Amino acid sequence: MELKDTRIKKNTPTEEKVEYKNFPMVPRVVFGKGSFDQLGTILMAKRKNSEAPFIFLVDDVFEGKALVDRIPAILNDRIVLISADEEPKTHQVDALVQKIREDYAEVPSGIVGIGGGTVMDLAKAVSIMMNNEGSTYEYQGWDLVKRPSIYHVGIPTISGTGAEVSRTTVLLGPEKKLGINSDYTTFDQVVLDPDLTIGVSKEQWFYTGMDCFIHCVESLNGTFLNAFSQSYGEKAFQLCKEVFLGDLPEAESRDKLMMASWHGGMSIAYSQVGVAHAMSYGLSYLLGVKHGIGNCIVFNHLEEFYPEGVALFKRMQEKHKIELPMGICADLSQGELDIMISVALGMEPLWENALGKEWKKTITPSKLKSIYEKI
Ligand code: NAD
Ligand code: ZN
Repeated sequence: MELKDTRIKKNTPTEEKVEYKNFPMVPRVVFGKGSFDQLGTILMAKRKNSEAPFIFLVDDVFEGKALVDRIPAILNDRIVLISADEEPKTHQVDALVQKIREDYAEVPSGIVGIGGGTVMDLAKAVSIMMNNEGSTYEYQGWDLVKRPSIYHVGIPTISGTGAEVSRTTVLLGPEKKLGINSDYTTFDQVVLDPDLTIGVSKEQWFYTGMDCFIHCVESLNGTFLNAFSQSYGEKAFQLCKEVFLGDLPEAESRDKLMMASWHGGMSIAYSQVGVAHAMSYGLSYLLGVKHGIGNCIVFNHLEEFYPEGVALFKRMQEKHKIELPMGICADLSQGELDIMISVALGMEPLWENALGKEWKKTITPSKLKSIYEKI
């Protein structure tokens, strides 16, 4: 999630000058059913020499599955299976980088992440840290990365986060959960093969898909909205409605959700997310609730901020018979609630996007407490 205002304001005595962000995009993308099988050819052109491997970080849900046999690992390439049970951590990135450095004399030809937001974010972070000194947590923030990352490829196997297009990798560090937001984070190549998402459970499909839907609602209803974000956000919003409220054939639904994720990611890159993400951040920090489901749990109670979006969300939830956990904050102590509230309130750009510059007048700790207590 991009947390910073995309507009950098410079005050001069006579005028306020707005400097717009020069935003990096994924330079190469292949889309289509079965396109995963082009990966070998794509990587071949990027192999530095026979000693410089490709490291494939792969969601361990694919262990023993046909997909692993289709990975074009040759020479001294390595496949590393990664659990997506927990969100990625800075120390996990450090350990992976150290192991690669110990095992290979050459810097790898590249890192390939095959999985959901969790594994793609790890791949982005490892590719950055292969070329940068120190510990990963030192780069959590904005534009702290000094040297370009090594070549890295993102291959989503579940649709919704937009991690495949974004310039951030969200990591849990020793002190904070925060992205490495940098121009070097964005993938060099993305492979969008909708068939890779076959096998996702209905619940996870819904939670991660709703991450995309919520990105659109928060971007389209935000004060940071501009024509760039709106053009992507409206497209993703419409695709989500087709996927979650229509009756599309499965293959078409997979194709469309993959493109919705892409457009939703593009939309927030040039604007910002809002109330659900700010509050879900608190849940994730304190209780380890994962991003997709956390957003759903919170969004369900945000009618006053997003009436149309929440009404649609409830229709989608009903259509797919998704039961969300209830009362997850019921037994929290005042101290724990205070931590969540302070994490959520710290997401200032998100609140400013959602409610404008004067957001502090309406969003107080007691207001957030009343919402958290409902969930
Ligand atoms: P995920 O990667 O955590 O995966 C969710 C579950 O789905 C896991 O159990 C995984 O094993 C399973 N799964 C994935 N593909 C599958 C398949 N084809 N078949 C069966 N199971 C499959 O889920 P996510 O929602 O994509 O990612 C969440 C993460 O993304 C969070 O860590 C969040 O912080 C991050 N995120 C990053 C960005 C960004 O811009 N970088 C944006 C939003 C979220
Ligand atoms: Zn999100």
